[in-house]
Amino acid sequence: MKENLKNWKKLKMIFEDYAIFTPGPVRMSEEILQIGAKQTPYFRNSEFSEVTFACEKGLLEMVNAEEGSKVIFLTASGTAGMESAVMNLLNESDNALVVNGGGFGQRFVDICQTHEVLHTNFTVKDTNLSEIDSVAPAGDYTALVVNAHETSVGHLYNLDAMGKYAAKKDMLFIVDAISMLVTDPLDMQKSNIDVVIAGSQKGLALPPGLAMVILNPKAQQKLRHVDSLYFNFKSYLENGERGQTPYTPAVTIMLQLEARLKQIKQRGGVVQSIANAKEVAEYFRKSIKTLPLKEYTPYMPNAMTTLTPTDGKSAMDVVNALEENYKVMVCPNGGAERELVFRISHMGEMSKEYTDILINALHQYYGVVRPS
Ligand SMILES: *Cc1c(COP(=O)(O)O)cnc(C)c1O
Repeated sequence: MKENLKNWKKLKMIFEDYAIFTPGPVRMSEEILQIGAKQTPYFRNSEFSEVTFACEKGLLEMVNAEEGSKVIFLTASGTAGMESAVMNLLNESDNALVVNGGGFGQRFVDICQTHEVLHTNFTVKDTNLSEIDSVAPAGDYTALVVNAHETSVGHLYNLDAMGKYAAKKDMLFIVDAISMLVTDPLDMQKSNIDVVIAGSQKGLALPPGLAMVILNPKAQQKLRHVDSLYFNFKSYLENGERGQTPYTPAVTIMLQLEARLKQIKQRGGVVQSIANAKEVAEYFRKSIKTLPLKEYTPYMPNAMTTLTPTDGKSAMDVVNALEENYKVMVCPNGGAERELVFRISHMGEMSKEYTDILINALHQYYGVVRPS
């Protein structure tokens, strides 16, 4: 018991005074943290309905959603957004083309398998699908499913090209935008996107626990019968009419989302947020040029940098040394790539100054003087 308490205290320390560059949860702003410290209010009233409406309006604006689009707010992590979107929009009469460029693409494949949705596992590597027309497998598909940013490897796809392809073939275009919203551009109307899945703990820089699914009018028309009580989108749409959810929402995270959307606006809008993330990402990549690290993919988003050691060191060694010797948290890869790549997030409350902590730690670790 005593031993447990000691371990718990040690664990708590890790999160409090480390510099955070993990791709979710990400560093949050002081303003958002303060809301998290307050009492959670009751929510079945018009005051909270106003919060829900403000969140919906702000999100729809951010992705330039078509008039009549709606947001489903789920008390769950991002994967529930992915799974419920598949459950509510695809069934045995569908044939989905699922882009699989890593762990999150594989998750969509697993979801389709779980729910017996006919699908093709479209495995991709070394392409952002700008040429999807010529590389996609031939077939009669009803839906195109993709993680806009495949966070497992730091790979950003070309949504415009994919949207054109989907529109031409009359496919429903479902995009998991969890790890690129706010840091990389997404425009539902320009890219013909019908469904956007968002999560709270990546670019939105909130605590985990809130998943959002944005449905344009076409997607709302396509909602299927679903064998689930909790994940029945129709009941969320009905309750959404009065600014409510059928079950208890992540009340505090919704309050934080409302504040975060306001904050983004006050700071110059999402265009400015994207520009900031780009500036920080480019600054980081430029500042580590003399280190034995190379970029893993040419299609990196602003949200994240993926690096491979070129001196034979294991990526895991770098990750561990940063954590143990410099109190800097970056992220190892899972599975086969654990020794090969590690990931640095530029999402959340980031600046060049804050990123200097990591840049300096890396130079010290390699014993290389940082060029001035
Ligand atoms: C983080 C992430 C998710 C959601 O993961 P959860 O752990 O369920 O929140 C889904 N898709 C992508 C691309 C992600 O980066």
